[in-house]
Amino acid sequence: MEIELIATGDELLEGTIADGNGLWLMERLAALGLPVRRKTTVRDRRDDILDAFRAASGRSDLLICSGGLGPTSDDITAECAAEAAGAPLVQDDATWESIRARLERRGIAATENNRRQAMVPKGARVHANRFGTAPMIEVAIGRSRAFLLPGVPREFVGLCEEILLPQLGALSAGAPVRRVRVLRCFGIAESHLDDALDGLAARFPGLSIGYRTTLPENHVRLVVVGPKAEQADAVLEEATREALRRIGPACFGSDGATLPGAVARALRARNATVALAESLTAGLGAALLADEPGASDWLRLSVVAYTDDAKRAVLGIPAELLATDGAVSERVAAAMAEGARRLGGSTFGLSCTGLAGPGTGGSPEPVGTVFTALSAPDGETRVVRHRFGGDRERIRRFTAYAMADALRRHLGGTAGPA
Ligand code: ATP
Ligand code: MG
Repeated sequence: MEIELIATGDELLEGTIADGNGLWLMERLAALGLPVRRKTTVRDRRDDILDAFRAASGRSDLLICSGGLGPTSDDITAECAAEAAGAPLVQDDATWESIRARLERRGIAATENNRRQAMVPKGARVHANRFGTAPMIEVAIGRSRAFLLPGVPREFVGLCEEILLPQLGALSAGAPVRRVRVLRCFGIAESHLDDALDGLAARFPGLSIGYRTTLPENHVRLVVVGPKAEQADAVLEEATREALRRIGPACFGSDGATLPGAVARALRARNATVALAESLTAGLGAALLADEPGASDWLRLSVVAYTDDAKRAVLGIPAELLATDGAVSERVAAAMAEGARRLGGSTFGLSCTGLAGPGTGGSPEPVGTVFTALSAPDGETRVVRHRFGGDRERIRRFTAYAMADALRRHLGGTAGPA
């Protein structure tokens, strides 16, 4: 079955709003194994809407249109659909009655404008809308069946959930099922992920692999399409296991998992706590960890020690060390992590010091040079030297992630069963 979406509305083409209705519906249709073939976005212009209906109805079986069913003169979807269907617009009495009753309850007199919302193409099926005024209209246009829905997201989603999707779900019985798993990774380049997973898709029936970067994370998307749900589920589980084995510790979790969530799990499992000393991130590291609800159980404190003086006074970094090595150095990072651990009375200490740019403040190191350190209860402090690319914002964000990830990897944590 070929499905097309048509989104109407000036706002959608003026950068005012995104087509949230379309995104939401596409995801739901994909989950039903009913992928959308094409989507057209048009202004509230008669010629354009008509054109969209005619073109789509010439090539697809099902059209789902959002917007333009309101009472005002720019709401012309129903009349365009009628014209494309070659049917006159007629009043649907039941709809008119319910509009009148609805307005009356709110003490508003119905106007001729309101009557527009009761006008439907002759022969159309009208589905009452308990979320708003305009009904959902189902009408044959050419060889296709068109569903016209209001643009207001609450009404669009409500009608889809209650009427449209259950109907389509029945149609899709017997259609291939589609299962998706997203593996979330940090600290590994997309090209390396691709290398690691080379040949994997060919080993599993119906498996395809996609990559997506949502900085600073890299995501691997495993998609399995198969005739039966149990079989697709089994293939996805096995492909996930093999992918995780190949990717190694860079994967911190799957689907909705987060890096702070993975850190939280690992710390909770050991009854452990953490404290931070941050320079260039100025608290971003702690803010990232505190995204996780309940962080107060394991996040003790974060010191922002931006200047040399602050590093000396608050964290006890020796003045000689700052003078000989400079603030952006391996030994200062280590001393900061140890200072954080001592101040916080925590199991672990994390730190960062580096150059977020654009200037280097006289440091001999290039912009993007960052040291992160992890002080652990075994008495060892592990320092990593990074060279992050990009602008100030990117460098600071990667640094916050790098601190959290150092702790997660040390604890061997993932955010849950993949
Ligand atoms: P109304 O009775 O409000 O006029 P309508 O069915 O005519 O409803 P539109 O006028 O197209 O729908 O849109 C109403 C509001 O719904 C818009 O102002 C916008 O905020 C929101 N909206 C419209 N289309 C979309 C869309 N595709 N995705 C998300 N929101 C949308
Ligand atoms: Mg409108």
